[in-house]
Order: sequence, then C-alpha cells, then structure tokens
Amino acid sequence: MKIEEVKSTAKTQRISAHSHVKGLGLDENGIAISMAAGLVGQKEAREAAGIVVDLIKSKKMAGRAILLAGPPGTGKTAIALAIAQELGNKVPFCPMVGSEVYSTEIKKTEVLMENFRRAIGLRIKETKEVYEGEVTELTPVETENPVGGYGKTVSHVIIGLKTAKGTKQLKLDPSIYESLQKEKVETGDVIYIEANSGAVKRQGRSDTYATEFDLEAEEYVPLPKGDVHKKKEVIQDVTLHDLDIANARPQGGQDILLMIIRFIPYKRDQMEQILRLRAQTEGIQIDESALSLLADFGVRATLRYSAQLLTPASLTAKVNGRVTIAREDVQEVSSLFLDAKSSAKILSLNEDKYMK
Ligand code: ATP
Repeated sequence: MKIEEVKSTAKTQRISAHSHVKGLGLDENGIAISMAAGLVGQKEAREAAGIVVDLIKSKKMAGRAILLAGPPGTGKTAIALAIAQELGNKVPFCPMVGSEVYSTEIKKTEVLMENFRRAIGLRIKETKEVYEGEVTELTPVETENPVGGYGKTVSHVIIGLKTAKGTKQLKLDPSIYESLQKEKVETGDVIYIEANSGAVKRQGRSDTYATEFDLEAEEYVPLPKGDVHKKKEVIQDVTLHDLDIANARPQGGQDILLMIIRFIPYKRDQMEQILRLRAQTEGIQIDESALSLLADFGVRATLRYSAQLLTPASLTAKVNGRVTIAREDVQEVSSLFLDAKSSAKILSLNEDKYMK
C-alpha cells in the first residue's frame, strides 16, 4: 500500500493569506508602481527587494542575508513571497515560524537544516550523450514465472526507435518498462536514452528524468551506434532535500553581511486598498461603508486583524440574508472577535481578577 505524504496545512494557509501577491510590482527601472502585482504602497521596501532580486540573479548574493524589519502586518511575509516569485517558479518559497524552531522535541539545528534543505533549489546542467528517436513500437515481453512462482513478469521491452537514419528495434532491460510508464511514454513520443546510465526522458511533456536504472548487461541495450548519437544539454532541477547539505556550506571564514529592509506602517487609504484586494481574491463582496470601517479597525488594531474579519463578516452577511457585506456585519464580527491589542488591554486592566 502506498503511504501518501501528509502536507503541512499550516504552511499552505500561511501562503494563501498572500494569494493576491504576484510579484514586486516594479517598473523596468526598478521603481515601485503604487499598486501593482497585488502589492500596495511600501515603496522603499519593494524597491530594496527588487535590488535583492537583481543581486541574486547576478549571483552576487552569496555571503549576504536580508532582515525584513517592521511592525506586524506591514507586508514582510508578502514581500518575501514576492521576491521568490520574481525569481521564477523554480525557486522554492519555504516559510517557517519561530515556534517550530523552539520545539522541545526536535533540536534547533535539525529544524533549521531541514528547512534549509527545503529552501535551496539547484539546477544542474550537464551535457550528456543521448540516443534520440521517436518511439514507433513499445512492447513489454512477458514470460511465465518459474515453477513455484505466480503469474508473469516482464522479461524485456522491445522499443522501435525512429531516428534520422531509419528505424531500429531495441531490446531493453525490464527495469526500463517502469521508467517508461512513469514518464508516460507512448508510441509517437520522442525520447532520449542516456548513453551511460540508460535513463529515459520524454521530450516536451516533463522536465524530469525518469528514475535512473542500471543497465548492467550490455547485451540488453544494443543501442544504435553513430548515427543517433548526439550531445544534448540536460537540465535537472533538484532541491537540497535530495543532496548532502554538508557539501553546500558557504565558503568558510566569511562574515555574513546583513541587509536590513525597513517596513513602515500603512496609511489608512493603503489599508483600504489592500483589504479591497483581499476581498476580491477571496471572492467576497463588500460595500464601501463596510470596507471603510474595516480600514478604521486596521488603523486601530492591525491590517491582519481586519483582513481576518473578512470571511466571518461574509458569513454573518449571509446569515442576515445579504450577499454583500454591510457595515453592521463588520460591527457584529468585530464585537465577537477581539484584536490582539484590545485583548491585551483587557487583560492588563483586569490583572487582579486572573490567576497568576
Ligand atoms: P508579521 O510581522 O505579523 O508576521 P508581516 O509584516 O509579515 O506581519 P504580512 O503577513 O505580509 O505581514 O501582511 C498581512 C496581510 O496583509 C497579508 O495578507 C498580506 O498579503 C497583506 N499585505 C501586507 N502588505 C501588503 C501590501 N503592501 N500590498 C498588498 N497586500 C499586503
């Protein structure tokens, strides 16, 4: 039975709060457009983040680290995500929370290493000798299992490979059959077979190699000589998850240069714009007066508090028979759910009434 991987829902939720963010929203000169790519305001921080993206792209980021500093809900996580997006979809974004590091069960270094492994993406470019051709035939040949065994097993695979110089029939090791199935190779597909390892890649539909397999016995692979033998650049994307992290240490002895990006609190109208974006992304309708009240709450408490009121307010609206959130719905949910600041204030005012 296959055991499915259990994905961390906490991590997905942490990213989905930023699903409206699509990039840094800078123009070609690296200047922040006031509202673009899902980001509003925070101009200097976005432009600084743009410079970080350039440093990474021009391979000058090694030995530097960035600290995003600012009050809660000012967009630090959103801009970290935007940096990853600007670097392309091959760059993993790996959020982690402080409490994960301070677990009593796992060592701090272990948690950090695990996250480093997840976060570092590598692209390996190699020039390999490959046999290239279009599959004209794909027949697994089965034989009865020896006495005492049950059923049949694939003993070898016959592949017809059409190349520029004609069609050849190849008899390949049975392990190739699994790899061909994994790559979903069908007749008509163009495939590459690596000269040394025998790994198979199908052109176009996937960027990854099928599992490498051993081609121990030469006689299994009477691959065509000369005419179909080509050199091909092979790109493989891996994460450090698959590699030995010890080999990936930065050059010893160098100090890390910390680059600090400062985040400033939002003005009321910027909060309103961000809340409008969040409502649109979540498919929530809200009227202007309700939005304005949420922006007020954002100023008084935090932007995150206001953004988190959106979903309960839309449920309250539904209960009250409305499709669009009205001011009363926002008032109602804000009286039900306290923001962190008000809650702390109540605690300190009534300190003597609580257990110590
Ligand atoms: P904390 O310090 O509490 O972790 P933070 O600075 O990381 O907070 P975020 O989580 O990035 O803040 O922001 C809170 C919410 O507001 C998120 O949903 C985020 O996507 C959104 N947000 C913040 N800043 C902007 C912005 N400039 N434009 C659009 N959305 C933003």
